[in-house]
Amino acid sequence: MKKVAIVGGGVSAFACAVSLKEKGIDFTVFDKEARPGGKLMTERFGDFVVEAGPDSFLPEKYWTLELIDKVGLRPSLLPSNDEFKGTYIYSRRRLHPLPEGVMLMVPTMFTPLLRSRLISLPGKVRMGLELFVPPRGDQADESLAQFVTRRLGRECLEKIAEPLVAGIHTSNPDNMSVRATFPRFIEMERTHGSLILGMMRAMKRANSAPSSGKKMTYFMSLREGMGELIEAAVRIVGPDAVKTSTPIKRVTKRAHGYSLAMDHGEASFDEVVLATPSFVSQEIISDLDPALATMLSSIEWSSTATISLGFSRSEIGRLPGFGFIVPRVEGRRINATTWSSVKWSCRAPSDTVLVRSFVGGGHHEELVDLADDELAHIVCGELNEIAGISAEPRFRKIYRWKKSMPKYTVGHLDRLTQIEGQLGRHPGLHLIGCSYRGIGIGDCVKSGFDAAARILPVDSEGRT
Ligand SMILES: Cc1cc2nc3c(=O)[nH]c(=O)nc-3n(C[C@H](O)[C@H](O)[C@H](O)COP(=O)(O)OP(=O)(O)OC[C@H]3O[C@@H](n4cnc5c(N)ncnc54)[C@H](O)[C@@H]3O)c2cc1C
Repeated sequence: MKKVAIVGGGVSAFACAVSLKEKGIDFTVFDKEARPGGKLMTERFGDFVVEAGPDSFLPEKYWTLELIDKVGLRPSLLPSNDEFKGTYIYSRRRLHPLPEGVMLMVPTMFTPLLRSRLISLPGKVRMGLELFVPPRGDQADESLAQFVTRRLGRECLEKIAEPLVAGIHTSNPDNMSVRATFPRFIEMERTHGSLILGMMRAMKRANSAPSSGKKMTYFMSLREGMGELIEAAVRIVGPDAVKTSTPIKRVTKRAHGYSLAMDHGEASFDEVVLATPSFVSQEIISDLDPALATMLSSIEWSSTATISLGFSRSEIGRLPGFGFIVPRVEGRRINATTWSSVKWSCRAPSDTVLVRSFVGGGHHEELVDLADDELAHIVCGELNEIAGISAEPRFRKIYRWKKSMPKYTVGHLDRLTQIEGQLGRHPGLHLIGCSYRGIGIGDCVKSGFDAAARILPVDSEGRT
């Protein structure tokens, strides 16, 4: 019977594993850590439910919902508390609401934009002129900064696109590839001649689509946190199929299939799915294909940290919306903060508010390496100056994610074409995960499903 090794135990790996299980193909998931799940990690401290990594997924990227259904978690779906919804942007020493109707960075309603004090009058006029900016003729890649400045103007870049859109990737818009990260914008420009028109038409279509029944919000989570997805996936694939604390050192070729080198010994498999970050996969395949390893080394990574703080509800004032984002031009040391227990139910004791701030990534990456006390001190100071929170936190949890976010820099898609061309020389070897075609959970899940679809129960010579 065909045997498959899945190296790395993040959400991409488990999407692949669950699909292989459905197909009746034998597989083993190897993870170097004692806990599977990679960046999907939820910890419970009393009544605090703390997300170390992602706190939500986009149901629009429907593959995550498919995985949730496959592992039987639909009853655990948790919509955000949209009665408190709203994004605030810190600018000129105060928090401004993101004008109603601004989708990612594209205005679709003009009155709220005109009323907003976030953008200056010339900045608003420039955003409106997007309707008349001709689409670019050639197909060459562009940075997000070039694209937004060209279409919507510099102020929209600095105050909205950089913190909101580049912030999703914790990337620098000056070298972030718009084609690799937001192909939808390129498509809108090409098809509708304008992002504003494209976004308005997309919203009209979405509003007239039949509702799917279950209440879906723009972001969704799971009642026990995103880690629940991994726990359920492990139950479905069977704990025996998951080997934790087992780092894979190398993959080499055999006459038929591949050999995996571990700390102690080797094992043979017909196919190998590398669901590890590109810089790890690079090491693992360095003997098998040095040229492919070099190509993988061209993908850069950034580090980030999350700081979760619990405050007594009675000691803090009203918190606006779901949280705030901070444009780089403001020169502050946090990038964003979510009022976690406002955005989501079941996250903190009822007399407490759970707040989560992000540092590092696109700017001030050095903060990630500070000692806990120093980092928490900086974050509390920033929360005080930005949002007026002067209370002492009564709970604190910090997670550092070193080299955790791949940077899709300009030319990323060309590099992927090269990588995929070279990978074609190794039938039965697959590369999946956030390093390649999308960092969000939905895209990672899709990469796992796609790899499983390419793995057939029999090989080209009819062997099972
Ligand atoms: C702080 C933070 C917040 C985020 N928020 C969101 C969000 O809200 N929504 C969203 O959609 N996305 C979010 N993301 C992005 C998303 O979480 C990740 O892109 C995604 O989870 C990556 O999944 P993966 O399977 O590609 O890799 P990973 O989760 O990184 O898994 C890789 C696995 O490989 C294992 N491994 C490494 N080396 C070896 C080895 N040699 N042998 C065996 N195993 C090895 C690791 O232990 C790990 O388990 C966030 C990311 C971070 C860091």
